[in-house]
Amino acid sequence: MLAITPKGLYCPPGDFYIDPLSPVPIALITHAHGDHARWGHQKYVIQEQAVDILRYRQPDAYIESTPYRQTIKMGDVWVSFHPAGHILGSAQIRIEYRGQVAVVSGDYKREADPTCAPFEPVECHLFVTESTFALPIYRWADPRKVADEIFSWWQTNAAESCPSLLFCYSLGKAQRILAMLKQLMDQEIYVHGSMETINACYRSQGIALPKTAVVTQQDRTRDYSKALILAPLSAFRSVWMNRFKGVRTAFASGWMAIRGTKRRQGIDRGFILSDHADWEGLLRTIRETKASRVWVTHGDAEIFSRYLKENVGIEAESIVSLTPTVEED
Ligand SMILES: [Zn+2]
Ligand SMILES: [Zn+2]
Repeated sequence: MLAITPKGLYCPPGDFYIDPLSPVPIALITHAHGDHARWGHQKYVIQEQAVDILRYRQPDAYIESTPYRQTIKMGDVWVSFHPAGHILGSAQIRIEYRGQVAVVSGDYKREADPTCAPFEPVECHLFVTESTFALPIYRWADPRKVADEIFSWWQTNAAESCPSLLFCYSLGKAQRILAMLKQLMDQEIYVHGSMETINACYRSQGIALPKTAVVTQQDRTRDYSKALILAPLSAFRSVWMNRFKGVRTAFASGWMAIRGTKRRQGIDRGFILSDHADWEGLLRTIRETKASRVWVTHGDAEIFSRYLKENVGIEAESIVSLTPTVEED
């Protein structure tokens, strides 16, 4: 029902690919991140809440959309999209063919996120899982606690008249942080221009975000001494950053769980906040799918598939050749 080909995961009886690596006629897309929704397919099928984001990133794409849990017939297989809890509109793709069920989960997490539908376990025979953070050292705290930490870091900096510049991934993480902070305060937050269009896509889907203002639309004399500013890591040490005098920097990412990461990058503070499942989240999810076979993509796929074989008794294999080197988070 699923085959590993040079262009990515292919479903022969349905004649479509899932998150393909190079251009194909029909691509089913788990979510709008660039390493999954690649450029150049003739037709994209994506969950309906992700359409605006995909259209913004790929204005010329031909897109068909589906709500969660609706069954569609493609060739000889039944297909449905189910919440993955990763970012807005992220989906696990369920394929049923002659009584066999496969689920391709894309990226997923189990922690609460006010910007997307929570992950729903889907029972299957074959489960394709990511393994970005598939080591026991990765164990996420309650995200509400992380939101409190971010808020009090900002307030401490503001009391000392230092701008707070928080780096995070522009699609998903930025909106999640904004939505979490909205539950704690009612202030305006500044954002890098690249984030504001995505914020608009979230708002148009009814996701409540706080008031935001784009830095480059402010006049030169703007005082940022009490401000929180969100930006992608690519803006670190750029000319854009020079306007924030006495700035304190932080990075919100699952990668902050690795000691030394922020020191290497020269950032003041790290907040461990991930949109991927942690070690327990991966194991729990695999148990809940009741899958007898697991294919592992991303990161530590070799180690994780060996762990599943030896300690969980699941027929697991690494298909890491299908995935990029380091996952954004
Ligand atoms: Zn992703
Ligand atoms: Zn990914």
